[in-house]
Amino acid sequence: MTTGFPDYDLLIVGMGPVGAVAANLAGQAGFRTLVIEQDSEPYKLPRAIVFDSEIMRVFASIGLADEIPAVTKPLGGSVYLGADRKPIRTFRAHPRAHPIAWYPSNLFYQPQLETIIRAGLSRYPNVTVMSGHRLTDVAQDESGVTARATDATGATIEIGARYLFACDGASSAVRKALAIPLDDIGFEERWLVIDTNVHGPMRWPDTHEIPPEVRSNAFSLMVCDPERPATLIPGRGTHRRWEYMLLPGERDADVVTPDWLRTQIGCWIDPDHVEIIRTAVYRFRALVAHRWRAGRVMLLGDAAHQTPPFFGQGMCHGIRDAAQLIWKLKLVDSGVADHGLLDSYQVEREPHVRAIVNASVAAGAEVCKLDPAEAVARDAAFRAIECERAGQVAMTDIVPPIRDGIIDMKSGGMRLPEFVVLDSGVERHIDTLLDGRFTLLTLDPFDTPPEWDAIDGHIVDITDADADGRMTGWLGERAARWIIVRPDRYIYATGSGDPAPVMATLFDHLHLRRAAAPDQPTVSMEANRT
Ligand SMILES: Cc1cc2nc3c(=O)[nH]c(=O)nc-3n(C[C@H](O)[C@H](O)[C@H](O)COP(=O)(O)OP(=O)(O)OC[C@H]3O[C@@H](n4cnc5c(N)ncnc54)[C@H](O)[C@@H]3O)c2cc1C
Repeated sequence: MTTGFPDYDLLIVGMGPVGAVAANLAGQAGFRTLVIEQDSEPYKLPRAIVFDSEIMRVFASIGLADEIPAVTKPLGGSVYLGADRKPIRTFRAHPRAHPIAWYPSNLFYQPQLETIIRAGLSRYPNVTVMSGHRLTDVAQDESGVTARATDATGATIEIGARYLFACDGASSAVRKALAIPLDDIGFEERWLVIDTNVHGPMRWPDTHEIPPEVRSNAFSLMVCDPERPATLIPGRGTHRRWEYMLLPGERDADVVTPDWLRTQIGCWIDPDHVEIIRTAVYRFRALVAHRWRAGRVMLLGDAAHQTPPFFGQGMCHGIRDAAQLIWKLKLVDSGVADHGLLDSYQVEREPHVRAIVNASVAAGAEVCKLDPAEAVARDAAFRAIECERAGQVAMTDIVPPIRDGIIDMKSGGMRLPEFVVLDSGVERHIDTLLDGRFTLLTLDPFDTPPEWDAIDGHIVDITDADADGRMTGWLGERAARWIIVRPDRYIYATGSGDPAPVMATLFDHLHLRRAAAPDQPTVSMEANRT
């Protein structure tokens, strides 16, 4: 039997980490939202284990600033060992600029994190979750999207919504229904991932030169051994992750046996001290969808792109997708901007994602070398580079700024640094002043045009607000007296003098409708490049 359902503003398909974050953002934005998820529990197999400070800023923006740090542990960096089992490369997390800033890299246990994000949805009466419902069909016309979903009994429901976020993962049914192909960037390796609880000390082998940061469980270890590449990650508490590359000819069933696991892990710790929680074999791939938006349907997360996890960025990409898309959809759905604004989603996000996918593929190609001679050559090359940069490059340095889209190309595109400001004499993270809105942080008073109100912009006076001199120094380096910050904490522009002309360009980029932006000609994305 088919049951009719009332219409929603937004239908989110899939409640993995990306769908769950998108649903929190949608709840906060006031969208009448329905989330459908085929499973009734968060995914049980080991996957993501680290996220960066930008993602922590998204979590804080959805009111989870206390709950999530309570289940994370900072990761200080990563050491790569070469074929001779001695260090060839070190990534160090940048030190936090201030104790209020978030850690650059945060280790977590995915089911625990997802439980917190999902629980956050109970705060929003405008968000409904229907677990145990699998999307089977989707269609759209000019006014909205119609989807069909079935439950375990085979009962079908039909859902109407104005927009659809496809957060349904790598095998996305929505992407397939829209016949959107994937661009294969050309990486494919199988790795066994094992999550454990360890109840005894590591016994670091004498055959390997293990730096103290790894011995103290502050850093992860990438063993680029051509006999079998492996990764060891010290999780929070007793949690420890082990990842082993499968060799050509090895079948999944060959490696997921108690004897095999005991032998591998037994090189590093007494296997009797190890409780295996879960194992899974993954095929690491690098894929990017050709189109991320089809009309009223947007692809987010693994539905739009898949990244080999050598820099721990796959989930982070998807959460960035959601954080960016939600404010654009809010402007469009409220009638302030026209649909053209949604075109900037892929324009901004795809180059960002591809830069990290390419870096991950390049890193993976080096890590996964099985030819001993090639591994020795790699080690020599890495050591030469390492001498030059003295281990100073951080994992998060691979995350680029936005280079195209809703930014002023000359002065914008980067994330707002995590400044600390004085608010009534109290030190606070700058994000707490942004309120998820367009923000003009300024040292000078300005009148803003009506369009600024239409996009819900606000002004924050930062005179005498700098707690530690960093914000003043940063502005001084740019000869700037103000910063226009987007709702996702990326900088639209910096400058000095009257910001009105820059704001006028911003309103054009946002595709404001005529009622909101009278007498403004539309400027294409192309015009921003000149
Ligand atoms: C070994 C490994 C390690 C990784 N490490 C990291 C890391 O450290 N950091 C990081 O950022 N990323 C990491 N990643 C990547 C990360 O796990 C993924 O990018 C992330 O889980 C994708 O989230 P998602 O919500 O887009 O998709 P998913 O997590 O796959 O969620 C999709 C959801 O949609 C549901 N669904 C699917 N089809 C339907 C349907 N038809 N109807 C209804 N519901 C549906 C599914 O049940 C699922 O709940 C790693 C990946 C692997 C494999």
